[in-house]
Amino acid sequence: MEVQRVNHRTVMGCSTGKRMFLSEGLAEEALIQNHIRNDYRPGEGPTNIYECAICGAWHFTSKNAIHPLLEDPDVIKRIETERRAYLWEQRLK
Ligand SMILES: [Zn+2]
Repeated sequence: MEVQRVNHRTVMGCSTGKRMFLSEGLAEEALIQNHIRNDYRPGEGPTNIYECAICGAWHFTSKNAIHPLLEDPDVIKRIETERRAYLWEQRLK
């Protein structure tokens, strides 16, 4: 049902040029996926998400504090497990 909340500007893209997520939940999941696919060192990569005042969608940010999910031991474990699977998949290609 997220799509119904999308306004015209959201569909057209955001002037920040950032990738857009239609809900906080989608942005959180994308942030976790981003960390699975990129082996960031501390302080690298997007660390949090925010609701954009321009388009109303959610974007990644690397400026704010680390998102609590990225510090959650269960999520950290999931990122490590899924990264191993991801790297293995890449090797098979
Ligand atoms: Zn925006």
